[in-house]
Amino acid sequence: MNTEASGQTEGMPTTPLSDSLPHHFDNGAIFHGFTAQCDACAGPIGVDQMTGSVHPLPGNRCILIAQAYCLRCGHLCHYHYLLEADGEMAATRLGSPGRAN
Ligand SMILES: [Zn+2]
Repeated sequence: MNTEASGQTEGMPTTPLSDSLPHHFDNGAIFHGFTAQCDACAGPIGVDQMTGSVHPLPGNRCILIAQAYCLRCGHLCHYHYLLEADGEMAATRLGSPGRAN
């Protein structure tokens, strides 16, 4: 048997995000992942549920692009973050619909 996992949506990355973690920045800082919340029901979503990848940028930054299905309500959540490790580690959510935390 050598089939891909069934049920995947076309165009969605199927690489586990955990394959890209921990991410090592140029300055030695390490990003181990994060715990996200479902956009629909605020249920917890762990890194092990996510598919996606980390794309390094110059200047101790990277872009994290991931998605996950909420186990509680089935909502497909997208996570686009700019991570900055120059000094304090900071994560800025990109492309959010302008909702405050
Ligand atoms: Zn949910």
